[in-house]
Amino acid sequence: MTFRRLSLALGRVSRVVRRYPYSVLATAALWTTFLPLLYGLWREAHSYQPDMVPPAFAIALALFVLGWIHPALYLLAALAVGLLNAVYAHIAHFWRVGNLEIRVETALDSSPGESSEFLRVFVLQSKFAWALMGYLAVALLLGVLYARVRPRAPRRGRAWAWRGMGAVLFLGLAAFMGPKVKGYPAVMLGTTTYRVYTRVNPILERKDRVAAFMATAPPLNCDAAFDKIVFVLGESANRDFMSLYGYPRPTTPFLDSLPNKVVARAISPVNQTMTAVPIIFTPATVTEYDVFYTSPSIVSDLRRCGYETFWVSNQLRYSPYTSSVSSIASEAEHVRFVLDDLEGGKFGLPDEVLLQLLPEDEIVPGRKQAFFIHLLGSHFDWKDRYPPDKALIPEPRDLRDIYANTIHYTDQVLAQIFARFHARSQSMLFVYTSDHGEWITADEGGHAFSQAFQDEYRIPLVFWASDPTRLELLAQAMEGRLVNTEALDVQIRYLVGLEDDPGVSYRTLVLSLGPGRVRDYVDLPYLEYGETP
Ligand SMILES: [Zn+2]
Repeated sequence: MTFRRLSLALGRVSRVVRRYPYSVLATAALWTTFLPLLYGLWREAHSYQPDMVPPAFAIALALFVLGWIHPALYLLAALAVGLLNAVYAHIAHFWRVGNLEIRVETALDSSPGESSEFLRVFVLQSKFAWALMGYLAVALLLGVLYARVRPRAPRRGRAWAWRGMGAVLFLGLAAFMGPKVKGYPAVMLGTTTYRVYTRVNPILERKDRVAAFMATAPPLNCDAAFDKIVFVLGESANRDFMSLYGYPRPTTPFLDSLPNKVVARAISPVNQTMTAVPIIFTPATVTEYDVFYTSPSIVSDLRRCGYETFWVSNQLRYSPYTSSVSSIASEAEHVRFVLDDLEGGKFGLPDEVLLQLLPEDEIVPGRKQAFFIHLLGSHFDWKDRYPPDKALIPEPRDLRDIYANTIHYTDQVLAQIFARFHARSQSMLFVYTSDHGEWITADEGGHAFSQAFQDEYRIPLVFWASDPTRLELLAQAMEGRLVNTEALDVQIRYLVGLEDDPGVSYRTLVLSLGPGRVRDYVDLPYLEYGETP
């Protein structure tokens, strides 16, 4: 097309547009309201339903009326509706919406370190995200175009009367349609976010409750002789990639070589951190999550047993308003985050950095001390989780090799942690597990999908003790069986002498994403093989 023809065509469009300015406004309103919805109904049916269409007409009409009153009102409303629609579509595209409230909680839970990694991969490098930004840009540009071509001061002197009528019409429409538009994606996302952000915060309440309880709690009598308890909580580690569990490459030489250990074929109670950690550390279970809000964790139990407790983390210091993990961390006497407490600390440093927060002179042989060490482990983005010079597979062919490298690096970190404490203990208990697993293919992976794979739950669980007789009953109870870490707190209590029975959970019930969404692990889809008890 020559420049002349192009400008002719543009001229024709602008004449039409000037003649029918309200068709521009109508197009803008329909575009903003319907584009992501129609795409969603076509390609993301798991997160969009046909009953979202009638409310969409109401929203479109509202946008039109607002624009009629004043173009600026359209622009403001279209910005809000378009942005919320885009975020909803983004969630649906990458994770499927599942439970929107849990999605919103998870989003509010993230802090800037993780957000920049998220922004890079899921926004800047995502064609889908760019398409959504294009959608939003067009929604606003159409509004700007309408503002330019709309009739100025129609019916001279009476413009404000007309606008007033428009406002009355809009309010009437809102009152009539208000309750019906609740099911529209942008409205759902907006109201859910508002609700989550403003409700009485159960995590802050828990903090007060636990503090009040601990202020008067009598000491506990733990008869086990451990002077050092080292509990390492991994991140997104799938045992299928560990030689300890039969992976063909030697990804876990340290764990492989550890003598007299107990190794369980474990599944995590949930496929995401925020809910898994409370279930692992407190009496909460898959079917009774709310117990978390009223119960101290094993961190407090060990404090009552006279242990000096440490929580040392390479993860983010999540917001105390939303984070269940920071709530449990705060039960320890010494809380240290690489991000805040280490000079030069930032998100994403290789896990070895944790040793700098565990100085040797603080680890006193004979003194009762318990250390909870939270790794970054195999957290996305996987290629950044290990120093390249420590890779088992220096030239990974695909994501599976990269992921195997993260597992191998974690094994090296475990070896260093173990060595540091072993040298400074008289009797040590060492535990390693992961909050949840991960599904990994040649080019994709992740967890916290609303339709979960078995692979998101397959985790390592390893116990080691200087005196292995303490582990005998546990070894018998776990031998060859599928074990749910929902009761791992009971096993820790058993090992230190607070329980007579290891209380192993063999349930295959797990949560998909969050509380209330109970699934049977055995029935979940999987990548390579289906696991049974
Ligand atoms: Zn996690």
